[in-house]
Amino acid sequence: MGPDDSAAHAPAPLQCPVPSDTLTGLPLDELASRLGSRTRALAARKWLYEARPVPAALPDRVPGVTGKAWAAVRHTAPLPPWTITDRRTAPDGTTKIALDLSGAAVESVLIPAKGRSTVCVSSQAGCTRHCAFCATATLGFTRHLSAGEIVLQYLLARAEAPPDAPARNVVFMGMGEPMDNLEEVLAAVDRLTEEAAPRLSASHVTVSTSGVLPGMTRFLRESPAQLALSLNATTDAQREQLMPHSRVWPIAALLDALRDDHARGSGRRYFIEYVLWADRNDSDADAARLAALLVGLPAHVNLIPHNAFAGSPLRPPAAERVRSFQRLVRENGVRCLVRWPRGNQIAAACGQLALS
Ligand code: SAH
Repeated sequence: MGPDDSAAHAPAPLQCPVPSDTLTGLPLDELASRLGSRTRALAARKWLYEARPVPAALPDRVPGVTGKAWAAVRHTAPLPPWTITDRRTAPDGTTKIALDLSGAAVESVLIPAKGRSTVCVSSQAGCTRHCAFCATATLGFTRHLSAGEIVLQYLLARAEAPPDAPARNVVFMGMGEPMDNLEEVLAAVDRLTEEAAPRLSASHVTVSTSGVLPGMTRFLRESPAQLALSLNATTDAQREQLMPHSRVWPIAALLDALRDDHARGSGRRYFIEYVLWADRNDSDADAARLAALLVGLPAHVNLIPHNAFAGSPLRPPAAERVRSFQRLVRENGVRCLVRWPRGNQIAAACGQLALS
């Protein structure tokens, strides 16, 4: 245990200053009880996810709900206040949406692909962690987002998805460390996947962590969603330089938590995110160590060549090195894809969300 350990365990005040009683944050059961029936609650949720444009404030009436029942919800569970402050679309179709949420500035990203789009949401304004390679870390930490604010980001981005590529996937890979705001993140996953619109499959919702072990362990026990672990290094010494909190939670402990979950029969596959930097973690030895670390785990490695941002001395490897690294990992029996950057022309790629 070193001098920074207390900071690693208690990164920031955990209370959420924004009320969680919002329409996007309310559990279906609670909505049903306030509206007097489950049928009405389902109708209200259907309306919410289909209304175009996305309402800035709740209307007087919604289809399928009596005026009296609706009035009670409208006043007690409004939408979280939101304004879109900027919207940029890259040539590859990736759209970054900058939002003001009751004074907190956050970004979400819509990533269209063939037949379906993915929405990348933020879980915090800024971030509680200090990863040396991430632009969001340069912002510091403003506050946690409520479940309703996280779900709202999905609602807003979904409205911009191409009709032939509906937004069926959500990744918690925007700003913030989800495990430091776990209560709200678990609630948001629940709202996205419960038996009412938008009714996403839990296999299509992925929460990404920089390796905050206590939160990760709880998440694996309590959530049906998928987990991505941002490993980014193959030795603790290497990882500590890049991600200071890994002093407290070493690689072996993180992977043991995945092994325990696997042994419990969760049936999950684990996404292992590995950002590649030239001459830092991209050697043949790293590729072999990475594969060895994952032996026995149903793991799927995503290699992410570093996305550069102003002020960072880190550089991605040449494309040929990235391909060789991928080949080596695969030859060692581990599934491995390269996430070539999307949206980097508009600073919307992994690690570039810094309100610019
Ligand atoms: N805090 C969470 C989620 C946000 S980061 C986490 O760490 O997982 C989402 C992903 O972007 C992580 O896998 C992270 O390793 C990666 N990332 C961060 N900065 C990056 C950069 N500059 N280039 C490429 N990927 C980056």
